[in-house]
Amino acid sequence: MRKKKNISALQEKEGVNENSHLNKKFIFKKNKDFSTDQFVKEILKGNTVFLSKAITFIESNNKIFFEKGQQILQKLLPHTGKSIRIGVTGVPGVGKSTFIESLGQYYTSFGHKVAVLAIDPSSSISKGSILGDKTRMEKLSKNPLAYIRPTASGNALGGVARKTRESVLLCEAAGFNKIIIETVGVGQSETLVHSMTDFFLLLKLAGAGDELQGIKRGIMEMADLIVINKAEADNIHAAKLAQKAFQTALHYFPPKESGWTPKVLLASALNNIGIDKISSAIDEYTALTKKNNFFDKKRKKQEEYWFYETIENELKKRFYQNPEIKKQTQKLLEEIFSNRISAFEAADILLQKAFSNEK
Ligand code: GDP
Repeated sequence: MRKKKNISALQEKEGVNENSHLNKKFIFKKNKDFSTDQFVKEILKGNTVFLSKAITFIESNNKIFFEKGQQILQKLLPHTGKSIRIGVTGVPGVGKSTFIESLGQYYTSFGHKVAVLAIDPSSSISKGSILGDKTRMEKLSKNPLAYIRPTASGNALGGVARKTRESVLLCEAAGFNKIIIETVGVGQSETLVHSMTDFFLLLKLAGAGDELQGIKRGIMEMADLIVINKAEADNIHAAKLAQKAFQTALHYFPPKESGWTPKVLLASALNNIGIDKISSAIDEYTALTKKNNFFDKKRKKQEEYWFYETIENELKKRFYQNPEIKKQTQKLLEEIFSNRISAFEAADILLQKAFSNEK
């Protein structure tokens, strides 16, 4: 029988023997050949190989990689912000990929640089992915003026949101001036995308007069533009009816702080129809909100939101991970359940304990 000591030595050796290209330290050594400044220089030149690598750093759970990513981002910050960030949402099958490919190709035909990122709530809820599984945006992915980043994965949507937000900044530093962030209408993902974009676009399909059913009020409120997709051939009549129904519904919402009146437009993403009008609407929105300063104000508000959001998440995490708090929580819960103390009093006790400990 092996002695315990031998087993632990063996385990250490296994670590050393790991296949070199799987060994994270080894990978880092290779990347160490490139300093943070080299990354910065290459990304500013628009080098997407370096951009991808830097995004991988940002997404990494490995502390060394992550910190390198943060250093790169820090240095690139002065070069960020010069883009229009467009959020695109809609149910699976509505035509998001097709639409983004069409809009992306339209933009690049005018020499714009387009980056496409995605927040996929399904990857954090289940193992599957609604957005990532299919072959997507074939033309755009081969377009030299476009950059498509596969969906960031992660356990918590909040974490994925941070990674996406930081990826947006890196893409901007690399010269991408049209950033499209895609998401599926599930859970909180739309709110997250809305909180990191300038313009929010909702894709819909025409139904048999039931357009407004099942649509979350919050999403309607967020939308700067609703696009009825697949508006072609036999579908055109239904699409026009849907357009009217949405336009009427939008009238019932209070005016937007942006001063912008949300529009409802028709498109056939598959046939590149209506894309020019959509692009013009985005331009009009940008011009209006830059003129009335809402554009800037909204971005500042978003920065503020992420600032507080990050602090709150971190505070919560640290609080609940504290071993003493964990122990006390358990005790207090038992007291609550046996009606010896109220939930509010228990919470008070715990919070007071935590803060007096910190002094
Ligand atoms: P996503 O799940 O929202 O990303 O939707 P996809 O872009 O993958 O599109 C779903 C299906 O609808 C695909 O078969 C597309 O070819 C099709 N589709 C997308 N846009 C249009 C359109 O404008 N007209 C028609 N007829 N089909 C479309």
